[in-house]
Amino acid sequence: MEPRDLSGNGRSPEGDEFSFARRRMVEEQLEGRGIRDPRVLTAMASVARHRFVDPSLWARAYGDHALPTVEGQTISQPYIVARMLELAELDPGHRVLEIGTGSGYQTALLARLVARVYSVERLPDLVRAAQARLAQLGAANVALRHGDGTLGWQEFAPYARVLVAAAAPRVPDALREQLEERGVLVIPVGGQEFQHLEVWRRLPGDRWTHSRHGDCRFVPLVGRDAWQAP
Ligand code: SAH
Repeated sequence: MEPRDLSGNGRSPEGDEFSFARRRMVEEQLEGRGIRDPRVLTAMASVARHRFVDPSLWARAYGDHALPTVEGQTISQPYIVARMLELAELDPGHRVLEIGTGSGYQTALLARLVARVYSVERLPDLVRAAQARLAQLGAANVALRHGDGTLGWQEFAPYARVLVAAAAPRVPDALREQLEERGVLVIPVGGQEFQHLEVWRRLPGDRWTHSRHGDCRFVPLVGRDAWQAP
């Protein structure tokens, strides 16, 4: 009999009832569109995405789209999550700051890919739900915080990588300041409807380069150094 792992921690990636859907997601949506980083592909084949949405949405959890969480927020489309993770050029030793925990899905992926994850979310209900899920999955290398992520998380700075999972009008100053030299910041920048996925690199002497990597649609980054709350 196949081992069954309903805990969703992915330690037995073949074992849960959605493993087939997840493998297909990786092959068609990720490899099929050019995601190549083997560590990202393995993580996405392992983490049980359905566990991060309401059970009424489980059947759609591996589809090629975002899904609703609460208060108009979303869990991002699998391809966009994979693209951000690949663009971040993650290393197992990294300490990473994530802004916009949301469901905690990307947080769980980061927890498998790097040494330590610090994640900030502005909606307290989402922080609580993500905390419970990540604890269930045994992700011990994650710290969550309720707050305005446009201000970063100064206490544990600097970070090797910063990933912003909400749409910003520009890169918030605090996030630049909290990035290590030679660090990489990945962020959707643009209007509230459409953005470009941007990669910012901090070079020695506080010089910066940035590049654009396609269009995306994220929910707005709402905070002191971004959009105002509606
Ligand atoms: N990567 C997430 C999806 C994030 S959606 C996932 O895998 O589920 C974007 C999230 O950013 C939302 O939950 C929203 O509440 C949050 N957000 C928006 N502005 C924020 C801010 N200033 N600080 C922290 N979180 C913010």
